[in-house]
Amino acid sequence: MVSKSWVKGLGPLFSFFLLTNPKFCTLTYIAMAEANFSLDDFRCKCGCGQALLDPNLIPALRSLQMIAKTKIQILSGFRCRAHNQKIGGSKNSVHCLGMAADIVIEGFTPVEMFFLAEQIPEFRNGGIGVYPDNGFLHLDVRKTSARWLKLKSNLGHLPISELAFYLAEKEKKNV
Ligand SMILES: [Zn+2]
Repeated sequence: MVSKSWVKGLGPLFSFFLLTNPKFCTLTYIAMAEANFSLDDFRCKCGCGQALLDPNLIPALRSLQMIAKTKIQILSGFRCRAHNQKIGGSKNSVHCLGMAADIVIEGFTPVEMFFLAEQIPEFRNGGIGVYPDNGFLHLDVRKTSARWLKLKSNLGHLPISELAFYLAEKEKKNV
């Protein structure tokens, strides 16, 4: 099922993970092919080439892509610890565990993406962070529910209940 050349291009860490994790092999490989993702989409952006992936992440993104009916762009997938620290990621970032992706879906605002992601069980029971000022959505498949809103005007994360207030303010400005 997995061609030899495909495995060869993956890098040592990932190959190790692939070979020792049969659940990853089937679920992730099939979902990745079906959703037209490449492992390169999820590799750490520092150039270290690492891409650790939780077995639930790619199938969940594939489900999201199916209801969005358009391609999901991955802005940030796996991050090594050094890169996460460099870009100011949170110390316990689930990006470092291969559980998260920051995404953009063409034709959808971050708020629209948020409501779409709530329909996917892995994300509904995991983490969803809305970044309307930066134009992307954070998604992760941690097994506990986490929601937040991040605005440029606030240093920290806001509770997701602030989303209604944010939308009302935005509407006021547009009128
Ligand atoms: Zn890295």
